[in-house]
Order: sequence, then structure tokens, then C-alpha cells
Amino acid sequence: VRRLLVAGNWKMNASRAMVSELLGQLATLSATDRDVLVCPPFPYLVPAAAELAGSGILMGAQNCAAEAFGAFTGEVSAAMLADVNCQYVILGHSERRSLYGETDELVLTKMRQVLDQGLKVILCVGESLQERQAGQEESVVGGQLALALAKLGDDDWKQMVVAYEPVWAIGTGETATPAQAQAMHAFIRAQLAARAEWIAAETRVLYGGSVKADNAAELFSQPDIDGGLVGGASLDVGQFTAICMA
Ligand code: 13P
Repeated sequence: VRRLLVAGNWKMNASRAMVSELLGQLATLSATDRDVLVCPPFPYLVPAAAELAGSGILMGAQNCAAEAFGAFTGEVSAAMLADVNCQYVILGHSERRSLYGETDELVLTKMRQVLDQGLKVILCVGESLQERQAGQEESVVGGQLALALAKLGDDDWKQMVVAYEPVWAIGTGETATPAQAQAMHAFIRAQLAARAEWIAAETRVLYGGSVKADNAAELFSQPDIDGGLVGGASLDVGQFTAICMA
């Protein structure tokens, strides 16, 4: 019942020229049985929406402000993202957590902003290598999910996607094995089930961390993996198309 979602997180990469080249090609992709989403940097959302018009490909942002509007120099609000036709916002990415000090509390505040604008959230969770080596991966991921489970309502959960991104697999070329990923996805689904069975049944849980054309199919075929959050490989239209069709 869960529709596959393949999302590209461009991070702080690309250019105007790349937006038209990459999305011009991607827009011809016909993926009727799955959702394809691209998340370019803020300045490219408007030209990206123009390239994607009529293609059925979805667009999202990589972050948003914790406040609604006002004197917050350099910030971009969820209302602005809705205004330029974003449907999704990635929140709690490990790079935001580790490089910009984002806490679970801040991520919750941002989730509230995004959900109140009628946008969907991709909530990223994942442990570091050190935490995995210490056997703490489940307690870390469970902790990152806890506030969202406790504080978001049932209507909110209808708009949620979870992405499991083990930090040690991001940009390293080292992918979690399908079995390792599946084990954590099953754990995440059990946390969702403890909140409500329907949330566990309906919420998509994506895998992220060195997803490539040659490992996507095996990852996506795991029972609790409902697609991918793709970084580096989403900047190569051939790779990303292959992953989308995996
Ligand atoms: P890579 O696919 O480059 O490892 O990045 C994963 C990621 O962080 C997606 O959000």
C-alpha cells in the first residue's frame, strides 16, 4: 500500500544551468507507480518548478525557518516554500544537526511550521559510526523520533515521511547493507506502531546514505524500505533516473 518515494537532496550543489539541464531531462521520466521528488537549494526552487511543470515530479526544500515570518535575517519560512509550490521539506538532516546544532526540539518547531502550511515533512534520523559501534543505534534513532511521536497529532502524521540516514553512510560510498537497513527500518516501524498501527502501516520510511544505481533495487525491495533519500547520485541524471526506476 505504501507508494515508493525516491527523493533527491541536492544539498548545496548545482547552478541555474544545471537546474535546466538536469530537470529538463528528468521531467521526461514517466514514473506512474512511484513518487519522484527533487530538493534543490532555495534560489533554484522557482526555476525548478518551471522546469518540472506538468511532469508529475514533486519539489521540496532542504530546510526552513523555525519562525513564521519577521525579523529573521537570512531565514526562509514554510509559507514562502508553500508559495513557490514546494510540497515537501526535509528536516533534521544529519548535516543540519551536526554542523548547525539543530536539536530535536528545534526540528519539532520546524515540523510544526511546515505542517501548518500544508506541506509534508521528511524527518531525517540516523546514528553516527561511534554510536553504532557502541551498540546505541536504536536508542539514538528512537530518541530522534520520540518528540515527533509524542507531539505531532494524527493529522500531522498523515503528512510525515521518515528517512533513516546512518551518518556513517552519508557521502562515504559505504552503504548500509540491505539487512542492516531493513533491521533499522523494522525498528522505526515498531516505534511508529507503538504510537498507532495505521501510522506504522502508512508512513513511508526512506533509506539514505550512498544510494546508487547499483544498490537501489536491493535496498528498495526490503519490506520496510519505501524508497530512498539520495544525495550525490541525485546530481547525475543518469544515476538518479536509474535509482528512480529501480
Ligand atoms: P549521499 O547519497 O551523497 O550519501 O547523501 C545521502 C544524504 O544525505 C541524502 O540526504
